[in-house]
This record gives sequence, C-alpha cells and structure tokens, in this order.
Amino acid sequence: MEERLQKIIAKAGIASRRAAEGLILAGRVTVDGKTITELGGKYDSSRQHICVDGKPLTFAEEKVYFLLNKPKGYLSTAKDERGRRTVLDLLPEVKERVYPLGRLDNNTEGLLLISNDGNLMNGLLHPRYKVNKTYIARVAPIPTENALDKLRQGIHLEDGLTAPAVVKLSDTAEDEAKVEITIHEGRNRQVRRMFAAIGSDVRALKRVKFASLTLTGVKRGHYRPLTDAEVAELY
Ligand code: URA
Repeated sequence: MEERLQKIIAKAGIASRRAAEGLILAGRVTVDGKTITELGGKYDSSRQHICVDGKPLTFAEEKVYFLLNKPKGYLSTAKDERGRRTVLDLLPEVKERVYPLGRLDNNTEGLLLISNDGNLMNGLLHPRYKVNKTYIARVAPIPTENALDKLRQGIHLEDGLTAPAVVKLSDTAEDEAKVEITIHEGRNRQVRRMFAAIGSDVRALKRVKFASLTLTGVKRGHYRPLTDAEVAELY
C-alpha cells in the first residue's frame, strides 16, 4: 500500500508525522538508496527500502486475535520437533507469527485463543486475572453430588488445593455423566486431575467458554477473528 513518507516514518515509531517531515526536508531519509527531500511523494513500505539516517525502518507486526475451535489430536504449541500436528496447522492463512494462548491437552477440544499479542497473553495467563474457563466433561462413573461438592469447595491435588469450582451435573446416561465445570486456574491437566481425585475418569473434555467468549458459530477445526470489542474486553 502506498502512503506518504512522513506517515510511514511515524508508523515505524521513529517520530511524529510533523517531525518526520523535518527529517525528510533535512535530507535524512532515503527510499531505495535515493535521498528524498520532497514531502508529497507516496511510497510502499512493504516493497521499498526506507532508511532514516541510513537505518532501515522496522514495523511492529499488526496484532491479530483468533478464536479457534480446536479438535482432538492437535498440540497446543506453535511447533513440534517430532512433526506432529499443531493448532497452527488449522490457521494456514494467518501470516503473522501467532501462537496459542495457554494450552488444551492433545485430546481436549474446544475454545483456544490464538494471537501474536504477548501483552494479552501474559495478562490472561496470569492466575491473578482469574479468567473463567468453562468445560464440559464426559465422566465415568457418574459422580455423586457429594463428590461434586468436593470440587465446589476445592480439592487437594498433588500441586495443592484448587480454588472452588462452579460445577453442574448437566446430563446423565447409563454409566456416564456430563458435567459442566468452571475454573479460573490453569494448571496442567487440571480438570482431568480434579475428576480423578473424586474417582471419575474423564472420557471427553471440551472447553466451551473462555471469559465471555463462546464457540457459537465456530465449527470444530474452524476459527474466526475476535471483534475489536471482544479484544477490548479481554484487556
Ligand atoms: N484441564 C484438563 O485436564 N485438560 C485441558 O486440556 C484443559 C483443562
């Protein structure tokens, strides 16, 4: 995209637009090796080599945010040395250097945020922000209300007592139950370990909500960009 040179320099964070005009007039700016001293010209920073005082301009990558409905069988990492599939394989069109926010186990499915915004990542992942995450767990054997109360109160795991969870038994079949569980911690395999601590095995696990975001309209294996309002709410 062609833009005025002073705007390009300002976008690179070197100077305000007005100060950039001064740099141009002072003969300190080159485009493809040629000194530019006129203010009116338009240039393309993605194709042309623009320098101020001989130093090439660099541009911070635009921040992008996606909500992915992760299927089972994809690792929540950006890369795997063993060549296994990662969640980034599901966003082949995204050119920015994105990575997943937090993790879902390989055999867990559901809502995963993907971004290149390190600030948001650090904030949201920190336990002090207490971001709620809701999961549907298919568990067996069917836990008693008494056992579920233990999860509601907080349960001892080998890495300490969990914070109280919001737990709802949503459906029961012959030998298994669907339980909706909301936690705000993000320990490794936490939901599976919480159910193991009350004697139930998690047969399937899906994250259906992260903060106020849900999977509505996003099919398994698909993704959508977050809206500006959704990003603002996460900050
Ligand atoms: N808890 C788990 O046990 N696994 C996940 O993937 C997420 C939460």
